[in-house]
Amino acid sequence: MAKKGQTYFCEVCRQKIVVEEEGFGVLVCCGQEMSRVEAGGMMETWTSVHHKPVQGTSFLCKVCGQKISVINQTTGILECCGQRMNKQ
Ligand SMILES: [Zn+2]
Ligand SMILES: [Zn+2]
Repeated sequence: MAKKGQTYFCEVCRQKIVVEEEGFGVLVCCGQEMSRVEAGGMMETWTSVHHKPVQGTSFLCKVCGQKISVINQTTGILECCGQRMNKQ
């Protein structure tokens, strides 16, 4: 389950998001589960969570209340709880 402040990315389209509000849903992009960027791992070097999101676009899941903001936006479709997330 996603935790607030964690960064996730899509291995298909490289979309990158940070969790703003936790939910019980699984974050999905391009039809597959998003991967968590491990703190201190290799991914961390190009995904500093300390930087403010540049784009600032937020998405909300109406089912579980999970809210994310997009750091690196792509055309990939973000889903949670089996449905598209709502752009805020
Ligand atoms: Zn994607
Ligand atoms: Zn959800």
